[in-house]
Amino acid sequence: MSTTTSPKRLADDAADVLRAVKLIQLGARMQVLESEFPKLSRERLIRLYREVKGASPPKGMLPFSEDWYLTWAPNIHTSMFANVYAFLEANSEGMDRVDLLTRAYALYAEHFQMNGEPLQMDLTRAWTFIRFKDAGILRLAGCTRCRGKFVAHAHEPSHSMVCGICQPPSRAGKTKAAAKAALERSAALQAQAA
Ligand SMILES: [Zn+2]
Repeated sequence: MSTTTSPKRLADDAADVLRAVKLIQLGARMQVLESEFPKLSRERLIRLYREVKGASPPKGMLPFSEDWYLTWAPNIHTSMFANVYAFLEANSEGMDRVDLLTRAYALYAEHFQMNGEPLQMDLTRAWTFIRFKDAGILRLAGCTRCRGKFVAHAHEPSHSMVCGICQPPSRAGKTKAAAKAALERSAALQAQAA
């Protein structure tokens, strides 16, 4: 074993480990980590996961389909996250996908937790949303009534779209108020940027 490791490579490696730890703290599953940190071995990621979480990573594939993001409460939560993500993406130079995901998810989680609202979307679902968005399966579309931006199927026509806040199911209640506040906050972020 005579390979010399350059200081640059060591620093990159350390940065990757720190970024992975942050994602694990936010709830990332193994598939997310393996996909985003191809330079860290699976064994290393499992060790990191155990160290951070005090338990082995759960096994099994990610069961998520894009339809989850279109059901009522998950749609409102994902839309808040997606608005923040889009804002950061447009306004933060030099941030890669992991940075954007980490920051947008932390802001999303903080907002709903401050409002005493349980989080609908875990980090892995947030990551999966970005994959669906990048693949052109899901996108943000404007509500024709409130003009807020909500997650929708990419092939769905946007001229008739009405969001889940303007047209909530009858049992919405408290969640509706928290969701509205969340979207107002992300709209304010976007207005600042405009
Ligand atoms: Zn609306």
